[in-house]
Amino acid sequence: MSKIVIVGAGYAGMMAAAHLDNAGVPFTIVNNHDYHHLTILLHEAAGGRGPGSNYSIPIKEVLTKDTSELVVDEVVGIDREKKVVKTKNGEQPYDYLIYSLGWISEYFGIKGLKENSLSITNLDTAVEIHEHIENEFKKYTEDHDKRHLRIALGGAGLTGIELMGELLEYLPKLCQSLNIPFSDVDIQCIEAMPTILPMVAEHLRPYVVETVTKKGGKLRTNTKIMEVTPGVVHLDGGETFEAGTIVWTGGVRANPLLTEAGFTVDRRGRAKVNSFMQSVDDDHIFIAGDSAWAENAEGKPYPPTAQNAEQMGPLAAKNIVALQNGKPMTEFNPSDMGTLCSLGANVGVGDAFGIPIKGVAAALAKEGSKALYLYNLGGLRLAGNRGKTVMKI
Ligand code: NAD
Repeated sequence: MSKIVIVGAGYAGMMAAAHLDNAGVPFTIVNNHDYHHLTILLHEAAGGRGPGSNYSIPIKEVLTKDTSELVVDEVVGIDREKKVVKTKNGEQPYDYLIYSLGWISEYFGIKGLKENSLSITNLDTAVEIHEHIENEFKKYTEDHDKRHLRIALGGAGLTGIELMGELLEYLPKLCQSLNIPFSDVDIQCIEAMPTILPMVAEHLRPYVVETVTKKGGKLRTNTKIMEVTPGVVHLDGGETFEAGTIVWTGGVRANPLLTEAGFTVDRRGRAKVNSFMQSVDDDHIFIAGDSAWAENAEGKPYPPTAQNAEQMGPLAAKNIVALQNGKPMTEFNPSDMGTLCSLGANVGVGDAFGIPIKGVAAALAKEGSKALYLYNLGGLRLAGNRGKTVMKI
């Protein structure tokens, strides 16, 4: 029997694994920790809406059959000639590989940015942001240096705006507990382009600006981050912003392992696949999620979103099984459920199946999308077990 290996237990890898687990097809999944974290909710952990553990699910809670093997190790390379995944502590030979290692932060070569900023890349870094802000505010109570109360978020895409929304709910509570006037806090989301949230309908963007501004945050557009030195963001035009907390939310790129393994990649390092999610360079490798450069019938690349990853993963798994059985493979034809951006726990903005929504309706739709994901991943059992912690009920 062919050996199937999945690398990466993000949305694509976990959904692929759940598909094979349900079908009783043996496979090995390699991930650098024994849990699956809910990447698009990590801003909630950074803002402290719930403890970090609310946003992770033990992989073995999802994969219940003894036909699956979990290897907790870090993938460091792929030898396509030998058909081996290299890990820090060994090797995993494969006949078919599902590559779904997700993304890393894209720093665009901005001087000092990586070294001098935090970013939300995993559960640990989300919790680190939460603790860092708490420590900065505590330091303020000791030395009254206002820089401790300044927060810079670099980039007003979904990550930057959702984090801003979350922090604007957390910071007033933190200030109250430390007896700091919230009006002394300066939190700015700095965006290079003329507009925020390009993926949200233009007529809804003023609602975001109004909501954030009313809560005490600042959204700056047409302002590019040029360099970051310790505690200082350098903007175009020569302005500087001294801030105790600097979080980079300015973009993502695929893990460089793909480029190193010689795949055909786009400018964000994603590897090209055909409509079956199969690498154009290697018939035995399927690429799913944010690592995949997949195009629709018009040749437009699919964006690296969780909902695309959730649909690419099981399709890759299904197509490997079809290949093994000499059956035809299925093309990627995703359904678009819309884009939702939370602005704290109770309001949001975006669209559900193309219908623009804002306020409580958007927040409710977002809660619904969390429940749907848990159900798709692990059926009623997982939605029932995890719904209460992952959702705000
Ligand atoms: P992004 O690329 O969507 O947004 C980054 C923003 O940073 C852009 O607006 C960009 O113009 C700005 N920027 C880049 N360089 C800058 C500079 N030097 N100075 C100031 N601004 C700069 O990145 P993201 O928000 O991290 O999202 C990454 C992907 O993850 C996207 O595909 C997004 O859809 C997805 N995502 C989805 C959700 C969700 O579904 N709720 C949440 C988070 C992220």
